[in-house]
Amino acid sequence: MDDCIFCKIVKGEIPAKKVYEDDTVVAFHDLEPQAPVHVLIIPKEHICCAAAVDETNSAVIAHIFEVAAKLGKEFGLDKGYRIVNNCGEDGGQTVKHLHFHFMGGRAFTWPAG
Ligand code: 5GP
Ligand code: ZN
Repeated sequence: MDDCIFCKIVKGEIPAKKVYEDDTVVAFHDLEPQAPVHVLIIPKEHICCAAAVDETNSAVIAHIFEVAAKLGKEFGLDKGYRIVNNCGEDGGQTVKHLHFHFMGGRAFTWPAG
């Protein structure tokens, strides 16, 4: 996707503070952090949103959760963290490339607004 910000981050065309990268996934600090730790974990493949996940591309989702567990240990988030996916307009998704917010370092309330 030529006009996708996160595809550009994957390709290194715009800078990001990466904390993890492998063949299928990249994780980087959110530009406007909402918690002491606020990292976005994304598939390198352009998948628009959670609604586009199916049997052909779902393996990377499991891998994203493996990466999240690894990051939790690396950031020392022993008390826990929150993983959020916003899907579509009502979900509050602003960047149309599937991403998981990995947030920690403070307590969160529930239900989220
Ligand atoms: P959404 O609202 O789609 O769930 O989340 C998009 C997130 O991407 C927001 O938290 C926003 O701060 C972050 N973001 C948007 N553009 C950029 C960017 O160019 N670089 C980084 N690192 N984060 C971005
Ligand atoms: Zn993309």
